[in-house]
Amino acid sequence: MNYTFALTGNPNVGKTSLYNRLTRSSRHVGNWHGVTVDKASKKASYDQNEINIVDLPGFYSLTVYSFEEEISRDDILSGNNNLVINICEASNLPRNLYLALQLLELNVPVMIVINMMDELHKRGLTIDVKKLEKHLCIPVVSVSAKYGFNGNDLLSGAVAYAQEFKTNRVKLPYLSKLPLKKVQEIISPNLTKSGLNPIYASIKVLENDSFVIDKLELSDKQKSQLNSLGDYQATVAKLRYEFIDQITDGVIVNREGTKKTGKLNASIADNADKIMLNKWLALPIFLLIMSGIFWITFGFVGKFLTDLLDGGKDVLVTWVNGGLDSLNVPEWMNALISYGIIDGVGGVIVFLPQIVILFFFLALLEDSGYISRVAFMTDGLFRKIGLSGRAVFTMIMGLGCSATAVLTARGLEDPLMRKKTVILTPFMSCSARLPVYTAIAAAFFTSGSVAIIFGLYFLGAVTVVILAAIFQKTSLKSGESSFIMEMPKYRMPTAERVLQIIGNNAKVFIIKVGTLVFALNVIVWVLCNFSITKGFVPVGGGESIMEKISALIAPIFAPLGFGNWQAVTALMSGLVAKEVVISTITSLGGVENVFPDSLAAICFMVYTLLYVPCVATLGAVRKEVGVKWMIFGLILQLAVAYLAALAVRIIVLAFISGLLHGIIVLGAVTAATMILTAILGLMNINKRRCVRCKANCSSCK
Ligand code: GDP
Ligand code: MG
Repeated sequence: MNYTFALTGNPNVGKTSLYNRLTRSSRHVGNWHGVTVDKASKKASYDQNEINIVDLPGFYSLTVYSFEEEISRDDILSGNNNLVINICEASNLPRNLYLALQLLELNVPVMIVINMMDELHKRGLTIDVKKLEKHLCIPVVSVSAKYGFNGNDLLSGAVAYAQEFKTNRVKLPYLSKLPLKKVQEIISPNLTKSGLNPIYASIKVLENDSFVIDKLELSDKQKSQLNSLGDYQATVAKLRYEFIDQITDGVIVNREGTKKTGKLNASIADNADKIMLNKWLALPIFLLIMSGIFWITFGFVGKFLTDLLDGGKDVLVTWVNGGLDSLNVPEWMNALISYGIIDGVGGVIVFLPQIVILFFFLALLEDSGYISRVAFMTDGLFRKIGLSGRAVFTMIMGLGCSATAVLTARGLEDPLMRKKTVILTPFMSCSARLPVYTAIAAAFFTSGSVAIIFGLYFLGAVTVVILAAIFQKTSLKSGESSFIMEMPKYRMPTAERVLQIIGNNAKVFIIKVGTLVFALNVIVWVLCNFSITKGFVPVGGGESIMEKISALIAPIFAPLGFGNWQAVTALMSGLVAKEVVISTITSLGGVENVFPDSLAAICFMVYTLLYVPCVATLGAVRKEVGVKWMIFGLILQLAVAYLAALAVRIIVLAFISGLLHGIIVLGAVTAATMILTAILGLMNINKRRCVRCKANCSSCK
């Protein structure tokens, strides 16, 4: 038989962890709310049954507020699922059951999986699942998805229940306390067309759920009839929670079997926030953690491993070059293989250790739950500049990969805030830009290279803050964010997960370098070494196709100090993938030959940090917020990168040569800021249709 089982539940309860176990996948898991922003499905098999398991974004209630939550609600309402597996967090059972009750009201087949039992067990507690089963008349099982977990046990119960399910047998006593009959009488003419379940629709109407109300297409008369019934929004919630209190009374027991009625004991990890979020200590701790990460990634372990690989690569280049030479291979082919491919592509591969270390730390930030603390700390600042602490998750994910990070902005409720977050995230320095900084900084600033790299990451973050603040002064101003922070528990990743993170990221990086970067490198090399009329020409003679094109563009970059064709070629190829920037520079003579001085090198790094990240990110931005915003972001990125690199150059020059230059700098930077503000003001870009209701509505703005 074929079945479809959907995994639902509140955010951060382990849905994706369970999905990965059941389907042997490695979907992104993280200890914060809003990691999963889209639907995924994969087949699992059990006892000759083929089961399509669907992983959904988390949500708290069938009344939803954000784009990602809509995905989950629509999936549940679609009626496509033979079973909805509602995952609940063991230590947070009452709140998690709030969604379970709504699924029962909707009368879809539901099974409850109580996850993270290990956390309860550590406190000497367990859950009386039989008692809960009796109250709700549905199967309830308890598991720890993160540790030893038998998917077959779960699937066998699930399949059996899906086969026998006809209707939910539980009597939800609170329903009789609501005027559901009256509501149904009023909305009954519209029910069939809407395709909604009558009980669900009636309760949601009482809860003022705008989706259901719109879907029913109620007339003004019906609306006023409903209004006359009174406001039941708070009552519905209160009644559900009263019922939950009843059914969970005495369900958490200690492992010997005695009832546990008091509060759960707080663990040491729960108290860690007293230090981590302490008024005076929070910021120093944050800076300490970030500098530690940078020091290990760029200065200590990472650099050592990269240098080791780099040495090996140089030996290989010399060896292959000599070997091909002795075999009398044509000169152009030897150059392509030795310098274009091995030196160029190898020049990127050597950064594998640093990329893996960076991703490892990002995963640690996520899994430990520290990211949520950072969001909490910065929420105040972000609110002031028209974003919210929720945007911080997206920004930090941007340190890994901009293209995947912009997707996580779906969790932002406010459509305008979401758009701003999407176009600002690429200013955060993604991992593909790391090789550029490391290679250039190592060549020009041997001792202070970690500080320079740290400075670049900092500049990326500061640019986000400054631009967001500027947006607040234009028509892109956002109102107060309604984001309510939820603080996950501190959790540590298992060794299995650490190996998975390292393996996955190494794989992704190697595949990208082996395919995209490799192909691009060959194309760029050919364009740099061939002329249309003369065939193979020596690089640097000004005759190759690329030299001619880049030389036309190069003067634009002359004020930034790197107006040469090699740097321009690197920037252009970097539009496809940032990793290619450094492989191009390596195959065009190396960092020292491309940049005349260290100031030009710094300006190039600043430009690389801030200009358009890559085509994949542009594609993701377009998909998330539309083509108009993508173009706006693109222009913004090019303009900001140029102005910032120019400002850095002028400031450094002013430092070197005195006050007069200083005044010019201030004037230039002020003028640049004013021009940018004026452009933003003129664009008036937010007066457009709302993504949620597809109209010019004021409530969704
Ligand atoms: P989702 O948001 O519901 O998809 O949850 P995830 O699968 O992303 O997991 C959220 C966090 O809970 C991650 O840090 C997981 O490692 C952790 N987690 C998942 N299952 C368990 C479990 O059984 N026990 C413990 N202690 N942590 C878990
Ligand atoms: Mg998930």
